[in-house]
Amino acid sequence: MENSYQFLSLILDSIADHIAVIDEKGSIQYANKSWSSFAKNNACVVGDDWIGINYLEECEKAAAMGDAFGVQVLNGIRSVIEKSSPNFYFEYPCHSPDEKRWFMMRVTPFELSGKKYFVIAHQNITERKLTEEKMKELARMDGLTNIPNRRTFDGFLHEEWRRCARLKKPISMALIDLDHFKTLNDNYGHQYGDECLIQIGELLREFANRPGEICARYGGEEFALTWGDTTLEQARRLSEKLLKRVAELQIRNEYSPVSNYLSVSIGVAEMVPEKGSEESQLIAEADRMLYRAKENGRNRVES
Ligand code: GH3
Ligand code: MG
Ligand code: MG
Repeated sequence: MENSYQFLSLILDSIADHIAVIDEKGSIQYANKSWSSFAKNNACVVGDDWIGINYLEECEKAAAMGDAFGVQVLNGIRSVIEKSSPNFYFEYPCHSPDEKRWFMMRVTPFELSGKKYFVIAHQNITERKLTEEKMKELARMDGLTNIPNRRTFDGFLHEEWRRCARLKKPISMALIDLDHFKTLNDNYGHQYGDECLIQIGELLREFANRPGEICARYGGEEFALTWGDTTLEQARRLSEKLLKRVAELQIRNEYSPVSNYLSVSIGVAEMVPEKGSEESQLIAEADRMLYRAKENGRNRVES
């Protein structure tokens, strides 16, 4: 290779990652094209030529201006220089008002002729992060009704239970089961059944608005609501309202022995969380009330 320096620097300039090399003091010895143009496009105070600029000092300046990530980057690079860590890997958000962006930084050391150098590779990882966010959201929600799923509900109830325990406040929940839903499916088809579940999910959203509240698809045609800092009486009133709102949807279920329209049975329970008690007791009680609502003829609230 005639000019291996030129050859390698052309390769590095063709890479989308922003790459710089610093010495032990933080002074930049090399920066590829992507590094310089990224700095330029991001209103960085340093101009085109990064060689000789002290990167650690730039991080210090950012940190002094209140940039929390500047502090982390500074400490991370220092830990590699001081050999307390073999390398440094860091992911951080850098959102602008009209765009969500994330970046990662990787710092790795190498030695040449007895001198220590550190490669700083910086990369836009927005696409991956957006996918991760989407996946997390999908895992939280029920695929059909687009309201939280049972796992999300369980986690939420656990946290809300602890919160109400600290505040010594009551927590209430309702279990809602669609009446004679099998009949509905059998007579109008599964597709129609699915559409009903979606409608019920939409309605339930209106009953869980505050931060301490959640609605969820608990299982097949069963739904759940939790209301933190809510008494049994309030929960019962909300449930009666829900019963009425379901009736007003007038979802055809004319072969149901209860009504010509789809109805629900609701079991409501309340507890003030105490030491040694668990949220499973609240669920069990709501379930017992739901069973009673079914026993007593369906299309009703029991508490
Ligand atoms: P009950 O009043 O006693 O609750 O009667 P039910 O017919 O609602 O109860 P059962 O447990 O016998 O039947 C529940 C039905 O719910 C059976 C099942 O096919 C239906 N189901 C469960 N999940 C789904 C779903 O995702 N889509 C549709 N279309 N139906 C579902
Ligand atoms: Mg059921
Ligand atoms: Mg049912």
